[in-house]
Amino acid sequence: MSFMGNRPTRRNYGKTRSAVATVARERIDILLRQAEEILAKDVELSKRYVGLARKISKRTKVRIPREKKHYLCRNCGQPLVLGKNARIRLRPNNSRIIISCLGCGAIRRCPYRKLC
Ligand SMILES: [Zn+2]
Repeated sequence: MSFMGNRPTRRNYGKTRSAVATVARERIDILLRQAEEILAKDVELSKRYVGLARKISKRTKVRIPREKKHYLCRNCGQPLVLGKNARIRLRPNNSRIIISCLGCGAIRRCPYRKLC
């Protein structure tokens, strides 16, 4: 596979687009990883990283991987790290998982099957 001499013309727009998606996916991945790493030191910066990842995702239509999306607080945008700023509870009677963000107190409930 070679891109040599290929200019992004209308004809290979598809190729360019998938290249964009690959880069976007990589960036989202890096941003979310860094967001988790920096969380203990700087919550605001961590939120910023998540915000950027979301922005890239929106602009490029690349989805944030499902398993990661469940661990981002929808309310305050923090990455949720279990044992640090998130609490997880299981509700066996209605097969739901409850993830609470200890940063802002937001709660999200997911059925077992949808998660992971
Ligand atoms: Zn939160």
